[in-house]
Amino acid sequence: MTATPIFNFSAGPAVLPREVLQQAASEMLDWHGSGMSVMEMSHRGPEFISIYKQAVADLRELLNVPPNYKILFQQGGGLGQNAIVPLNLAGRRAQPATIDFVHTGSWSGKSLKEAARYANVNVAASSKDQAFTAVPPQASWKLTQDAAYLHICTNETIDGVEYNFVPEVPADVPIVADMSSHILSRVIDVSKYGVIFAGAQKNIGPAGLTLVIVREDLLEHALPICPSAFHWKTVAEHESMYNTPPTYAIYIAGLVFDWLKRQGGVAAMEQRNIEKARLLYAALDADDFYQNRVAKENRSRMNVPFYLRDEALNEQFLAGAKARGLLQLKGHKSVGGMRASIYNAMPIEGVQALVDYLNEFAGR
Ligand SMILES: *Cc1c(COP(=O)(O)O)cnc(C)c1O
Repeated sequence: MTATPIFNFSAGPAVLPREVLQQAASEMLDWHGSGMSVMEMSHRGPEFISIYKQAVADLRELLNVPPNYKILFQQGGGLGQNAIVPLNLAGRRAQPATIDFVHTGSWSGKSLKEAARYANVNVAASSKDQAFTAVPPQASWKLTQDAAYLHICTNETIDGVEYNFVPEVPADVPIVADMSSHILSRVIDVSKYGVIFAGAQKNIGPAGLTLVIVREDLLEHALPICPSAFHWKTVAEHESMYNTPPTYAIYIAGLVFDWLKRQGGVAAMEQRNIEKARLLYAALDADDFYQNRVAKENRSRMNVPFYLRDEALNEQFLAGAKARGLLQLKGHKSVGGMRASIYNAMPIEGVQALVDYLNEFAGR
């Protein structure tokens, strides 16, 4: 009897490449002949410094990060950045500064609520009255000319809504993008953004690591109350080692970056992600047994929420999926239904297995 392959559709913490986990397992007790686990190393020792430097260099290459941007490894997650970003940028303007937000779902909603503790928040556009099923067209946005910055969430993990454009902004208004759930899934032009941040646990590595990519001129505007450990300038000056960084999470992220390079880089991943998403949405659209409510042009390639027409069958659907090795398909509690997250580490075989199950379940 052969074991059923397992495919994990969790939204986060999420599936990691099997090769990465295997390599980490083989290096667990003795990293490269050092006699130590990466978990046991000083973050200031030559072994860990080499791991850190390689991870930063590989990420810079993968995302084509321009030289005038710093790559920071922080803690505190995406929600931590909801406070850390305004604490670092609100000082760009006379107090109280105004920050523009586009409200496209749960995560941008949390971000704007938190920022309101440090600044005036202007909701420049919102898709709330459409139940967060689309990105409002840029022509409808009411941007503030002298906002400290514009915050957008370019992939709403819970609502399954993804931007398909980079916004146009007034000359001195940087874009801050929460890319937690789709970073490294598609080619981006980093130079169009002032700050990009992402919790690692969706598409990078383990929970506990937060990636921040910040343009150098934006390091200078923190509010005096910004905690030192969260002050980007301080973190940058100390190469992310002002305090102890999440060393093991950085190591795993580095293995993921190396894996991505072996897969052909971000452009190659994007092609695979397009194909995976096409396959899954086609199956959902083919049968009115299932429903995805997001506007077609804003459907996320990473997070695919869907509903069964007959919600009474939800438990049966999930039990049948689990029996086939298709795990963690239950939707977020705030929206119900189902959600399949198909990050970089989800192979097309996993999406095909889900599609086969969708067809079989609808047929029954
Ligand atoms: C998961 C997620 C977050 C929250 O991250 P935490 O690490 O739990 O704080 C923020 N933004 C987006 C878009 C996410 O998907």
